[in-house]
Amino acid sequence: MQTPPEAIVPCNGCTACCKKALIVLFPEAGDRIAAHGDNVDPIIKTLPGGKRVFTLKKKIDGSCIYLTDLGCSAHALRPVVCRVFDCRGVVRGLVAQHGPMGPRLAVRKGQADRDVIAAGQRLIKEEEAANAEADKTETPTAS
Ligand code: SF4
Repeated sequence: MQTPPEAIVPCNGCTACCKKALIVLFPEAGDRIAAHGDNVDPIIKTLPGGKRVFTLKKKIDGSCIYLTDLGCSAHALRPVVCRVFDCRGVVRGLVAQHGPMGPRLAVRKGQADRDVIAAGQRLIKEEEAANAEADKTETPTAS
């Protein structure tokens, strides 16, 4: 597996995706398990489909072992899943698959995290507002 391209997400301090997700390590995509030392959960997990994987440890509140009040304390070492994750893509994917109610349904069924979906929706709205603003300034005015 090739290392996927890094997502450029304007998180602005949001760490919703660091708080609940299982942070899986994918050595085949470039993660170095040994580099995480004691921060790797010794319990090997099984993904849907049967693949057995190492994950990062979580704190008691369910957040990633590396998450601090100042954000990720392992930015340079953060796993591939953190580098490629884009909450906007999750929202857009759910809308594309299931329609406008897709994100809400996924949360209700426990298939997506409420805070991550909310973060994605907020960023999409901000993006749309910025695009609309840019369109306005680019539209030539009739004289
Ligand atoms: S490694 Fe860093 S970016 Fe990834 S979940 Fe943990 S705190 Fe968040």
